[in-house]
Amino acid sequence: MQGKTLQGKTALVTGSTSGIGLGIARSLAAAGANIVFNGFGDLKEIDALQTSVAQEFGVQTAYHNADMSKAGEIEALMKFAAEKFGAVDILVNNAGIQHVANVEDFPVEKWDAIIAINLTSAFHTTRLALPAMKAKNWGRIINVASVHGLVGSAQKSAYVAAKHGIVGLTKVTALENAQSGVTANAICPGWVLTPLVQKQVDARAAAGNLSNDEAKRQLLQEKQPSGEFVTPEQLGSLAVYLCSEAASQMRGMSLNVDGGWVAQ
Ligand code: NAD
Repeated sequence: MQGKTLQGKTALVTGSTSGIGLGIARSLAAAGANIVFNGFGDLKEIDALQTSVAQEFGVQTAYHNADMSKAGEIEALMKFAAEKFGAVDILVNNAGIQHVANVEDFPVEKWDAIIAINLTSAFHTTRLALPAMKAKNWGRIINVASVHGLVGSAQKSAYVAAKHGIVGLTKVTALENAQSGVTANAICPGWVLTPLVQKQVDARAAAGNLSNDEAKRQLLQEKQPSGEFVTPEQLGSLAVYLCSEAASQMRGMSLNVDGGWVAQ
C-alpha cells in the first residue's frame, strides 16, 4: 500500500485488541510505526497478536493492560509508552463501548462507563501526550468517533453524546495546536462488522427470528446506502494518510467513512 513512511514513530492505539483499533494498529505498523497495544482480552492471545504484528511488519510492539475508564490506569499507560519507546508520536483514541436503551431506561452506570471510555479517556490521553508532541513539533492525534458524532440515533444517548463530544474535543485540540506540527482529526465510521456491531446483529436476529445474514442485510439497508460494511483496513489506510505530510494541514476535521450514511 505505502512505504515505511512512519518508521521511527511510535503509535499508541487504545482498544487495539480487536476490531477497528486492531485494523488501524496493523496499518500503522505496515507503514513502519512501533505500536503500543491496549485493550481487553485473553493475555496469551494478545501476546501472540503483538508478536505476530511485530514479525509481519518488522516493527517493535508492546502491550499495556489499562482500563480506559480509569484516569490512574491511563496515566500508567502513557508512562509505560514513554518509557518503552521514548514518546507517543501518534495517538489513536479508539477504545469504545456501546449500550442500547431509551433515555428514561438507560442505566446510570452504563451512561457513566460510556462517557468515561468513549470520551473522557481521550481527554486524558490527549492532555498527557501533548507536551512531548509539542516539544518535538510533530504529533498526530486521531480520534475514532462515529457517524454518531455527527447525527443522532434513537436508544444510543450516551454513545451519541460521547461521540459528539469527541468531535468537539478534536476541534479544540486542533485549534489549540494550530500553529504547531501537531494535528488532531476524527474518523467517523459507519457500520463496521466488529464484535461491537456483531452484538447488534445478534440482537436483531434474535428479536426478529432472522438469520445472521438477513439481520446484517437489514442493518445496512436502514442506514448505509452502499449496502456494504466499512472495513478496519479502510480506516487504517485513512489513519496512515492522516499521519502523512500530505495531511499536515488537515486540522480538526471529522472524516466520514460510512458508505453514504451521513449524505442522506
Ligand atoms: P470492538 O468491541 O471490536 O473493540 C473495542 C476495543 O476497545 C477492544 O479492543 C476492547 O478490548 C477495547 N475496550 C473496551 N473497553 C475498554 C476499556 N474500558 N479499556 C480499554 N479498552 C477497552 O469495537 P469496534 O467496533 O472496533 O470499536 C472501536 C471504536 O470504533 C469504538 O470507539 C467505536 O465506538 C467506534 N466505532 C465503531 C463502529 C462499528 O461499526 N464497529 C462504527 C463507528 C465507530
